[in-house]
Amino acid sequence: MSTAIDAATMTVHLFNTLTGELDPLLPSDGKAFRMYACGPTIYDYGHIGNFRTFLQIDVLRRFLKLTGTPVFHVMNITDVDDRIIRNAAQAGLPIGQYTAPYEQAFFEDLETLRIERPERIARATEHISRMVELIEKLAAAGAAYQTEDGSWYFRLSAFPAYGKLSKKDLSGMEDGARVDLDEYEKDSARDFALWKAAKPGETSWETPIGRGRPGWHIECSAMAMEYLGESLDLHAGGEDLMFPHHENEIAQSETVTHKPFALHWMHVRFLLVDGRKMSKSEGNFYTLRDLLLKGYKASAIRLALISVPYRHQLNFTFEGLTAAANEIERLRTFSARLKQASLAPGENPALQQAAKKAQADFIAELADDLNTADAKAPIFELVRAANTAIDQGQLRAGDREAILAVLAGFDTVFDVLADRDGEATTRAIQWAQQAGREADIASELLDRQSLTDEAIDALVAERTQAKRQRNFARADQIRKDLAERGILIEDSKEGVRWKRK
Ligand SMILES: [Zn+2]
Repeated sequence: MSTAIDAATMTVHLFNTLTGELDPLLPSDGKAFRMYACGPTIYDYGHIGNFRTFLQIDVLRRFLKLTGTPVFHVMNITDVDDRIIRNAAQAGLPIGQYTAPYEQAFFEDLETLRIERPERIARATEHISRMVELIEKLAAAGAAYQTEDGSWYFRLSAFPAYGKLSKKDLSGMEDGARVDLDEYEKDSARDFALWKAAKPGETSWETPIGRGRPGWHIECSAMAMEYLGESLDLHAGGEDLMFPHHENEIAQSETVTHKPFALHWMHVRFLLVDGRKMSKSEGNFYTLRDLLLKGYKASAIRLALISVPYRHQLNFTFEGLTAAANEIERLRTFSARLKQASLAPGENPALQQAAKKAQADFIAELADDLNTADAKAPIFELVRAANTAIDQGQLRAGDREAILAVLAGFDTVFDVLADRDGEATTRAIQWAQQAGREADIASELLDRQSLTDEAIDALVAERTQAKRQRNFARADQIRKDLAERGILIEDSKEGVRWKRK
């Protein structure tokens, strides 16, 4: 397939929060595009808002590679923070034991959503000495100070450029006011904790700057620079991290290096659920696993979460998920039809032209600030045109290759064509059964899962037999019953096949 070659001359432009402009994305070392994305804090299962961010970053890395740019992508795992320490203590477990199942669940969820693994995953607890070194450098520069309890803080007044990313007006900033929480939403800047002195019973590390544990912000600065150097090509995260987390990362890093910490900042907007902010108290809070157990397919969740461009607010609804599932079904059905169709030799110039245009438009839309919505449209136009051409006997064998290449290019980024939905759902059901959450499994799903392959084979054989005996009422009944349980029967020249929806 020639998609990667055709795309290789295209430069991707992306909105840069720092400059407020669409800036080109190019590897500044001429080799690989070095990007860092803030990863999960593993104290719970990931919700769809988290995964929207990770999915949009996945679209970026896949598209960069499609256009011929190698990527080196680092993601951190926050495996120590206030919430983890609190929850682990409540569960009576060491933090590593408490977080391990959530980390495993996170990787399974990435797999379910077909999110590519970054080149490097960095756990905070494995980089404590790098963080301590950075704090020592900040102290030497006069930008970090220790309080009486042994904690270390960043002195905000030591970094006059503070606020340049979020463009916040910090004129009312109180000198020396401090905050030591990992999570805080106050719209004001404070000296923030770099290192928290050990409290009795808490997980801590003995280090040259005292016994304690790192603050959340220093993690990202230390690990990003460890693997990507002092100036990253791009730093990404959810919009909620812009302030104060990313401002703090900039302040810590640039105070030490005197170089721009990241040349490009990408922020993915929040999603709404049914038009409202997603929250547990509103009853509209969903983890990925909640949706799978309700019977929604992994591929539909992926498509629904990436189809609205990253800078736009996505209003997540169940109707939207159903629409995404229908789009995927249309693509998969078309792809199978195109592969199986018996076609006359030669080429149809109009379709060759249509395929070229669809591919060019697809690439151009993604290159323009990752416009996933407008990138999808030309693909569906091509599918419509090709379906009509097959109906009218106008599609030629030479067109098949060209159209399949366009679909392959689309799928390199969107990754929804291959049907792995059954496996993802089965995994979710098994997890729910082990986790004591059977009650959350939709009854249709349990019903479907309880039908073994052998039982389906037997019913399909019975239907074939009924048709032979011209008992069409019985044959139809079997087809209907199976469809209700999520089994689709396909009659073809080669015989009867079935698949789980
Ligand atoms: Zn971060």
